[in-house]
Amino acid sequence: MKSYGHFIDGRYVDPIEGQWMDSVDPYSGQAWARISRGSASDADAAVAAARRAMRSGAFASMTATQRGRMMQKFADLVEQNAERLALIETRDNGKLLAETSAQVRYHPEWWRYFGGLADKVEGAVMPIDKPEMMAFTRHEPVGVVAALTAWNSPLLFVAWKCAAAIAAGCAVVVKPSEFASVSTLELAALTQEAGFPDGVFNVVTGLGPEIGSALIDHPDVAKITFTGSDTTGARIYAQAARTMKRVSLELGGKSPNIVFDDCDLDKAASGAISGIFAATGQTCIAGSRLLVQNSIREEFTQKVAALGASAKQGNPMSPDTHIGPVTTPPQYRKVLDYIDIAKAEGARCILGGKPALDMPGGQFVEPTIFTDVTPGMRIAREEVFGPVLSIIGFDDEADAVRIGNDTIYGLAAGVWTRDIGRAMRMSSALRAGTVWVNTYRAVSYMMPFGGMKHSGIGRESGLASIGEFLETKSVWISYADNVPANPFIMR
Ligand code: NAD
Repeated sequence: MKSYGHFIDGRYVDPIEGQWMDSVDPYSGQAWARISRGSASDADAAVAAARRAMRSGAFASMTATQRGRMMQKFADLVEQNAERLALIETRDNGKLLAETSAQVRYHPEWWRYFGGLADKVEGAVMPIDKPEMMAFTRHEPVGVVAALTAWNSPLLFVAWKCAAAIAAGCAVVVKPSEFASVSTLELAALTQEAGFPDGVFNVVTGLGPEIGSALIDHPDVAKITFTGSDTTGARIYAQAARTMKRVSLELGGKSPNIVFDDCDLDKAASGAISGIFAATGQTCIAGSRLLVQNSIREEFTQKVAALGASAKQGNPMSPDTHIGPVTTPPQYRKVLDYIDIAKAEGARCILGGKPALDMPGGQFVEPTIFTDVTPGMRIAREEVFGPVLSIIGFDDEADAVRIGNDTIYGLAAGVWTRDIGRAMRMSSALRAGTVWVNTYRAVSYMMPFGGMKHSGIGRESGLASIGEFLETKSVWISYADNVPANPFIMR
């Protein structure tokens, strides 16, 4: 079994306190690699390396154009290694190889896009309203960035966060989830091959409350970019306030996928399924509340249930598997708990509703659908993060908007309709960072992604997201010869 040290200052190093932990393959239930269980001392070493890289040496003296070229080279290396990295990620988090392969093949586009953007970050010269004064802005890297990521798409999150951060001129310390760290550790080696100067890209591993928390408290970390649950996100937000860090949070969701009776029902059924059973429901953008217009509720529910029933559970490495295991033991128990809660609350289970005990590893849950769900039930309000769908009826557009927005979350929403006016009205009325019309689960490096309300703060991807890693400085230069008449008043 291979052991992975942290990746700090351009090389793999053993954890200072000598503690290790297993990384478990969720499909077999067996440990398959060892990772470092890092401590505050490891966090210190990684942050010090990142700080050095930003202050002196090759990275600090690189032009933005050179930084962009380095990122393009890295993109090519990720592309060449995509299949190997995808296999590792599937082994680590149990996500379908078909999906991890697609994600890792897409990953380089973030480095290309932000690599291209690196030398297009321009300040402005103001037509300033003071005589004999030159006034302009510069955008400077915010400082060392700590990137904490979740287990469901580790490499994609690295791309979303680190491509923008490094394009902005920041050095990063990534802390992947303790449940799926190996793909990020393997990716780190490619940064060396691409010529990243030492300390620009560091990876430390271990538990959130240990090394994760040490990064949040670290005085030399300027910015936290976090993907994870809203509970952890809120804790980190409060903790980071003590040292006044900049914070972006990509958190959970309870996204409404809204089906109107005028839509193409087959497309909508396929969208409903991909909204909840893709990635075993373990995606922040899961369309876990399926809102169906009452006029088609019976017919559409049957369609979705039939499609759901055809899903094949099994080995995530196999190309004909549709639904893999739940990634972590706590998550598996949480999903089963929510199924019990839904039954106790009076929701009607029309598909699944129990563990799939004939599968290996002990972490499979049957694809599950509940009907007769009312908006007040916990199953309709709380994020399950598993293959559990709640179907809720609605009467008309106003009803759909009211129920759709009746949530603390605001990450995403889906709308299925052939009526362009309705599509426009719904996309404006729904309080969500992303609204998909007649599609679901589409993302791109050029499209901002992020949440409203409890789903987070800030946006990733898209041109403006580089601003999450920049500080704006205003520079005033007087070229007046005279001494100001009165130094005691504002100039
Ligand atoms: P999590 O909040 O448990 O952990 C996320 C990361 O934070 C991990 O690296 C973890 O080690 C670290 N962490 C945990 N406690 C910490 C602490 N006290 N201090 C510092 N770091 C700490 O989330 P998870 O279970 O890994 O992921 C699932 C959640 O992530 C779901 O809620 C899901 O909706 C959300 N998610 C959001 C997005 C998005 O982009 N909006 C994407 C994927 C997942």
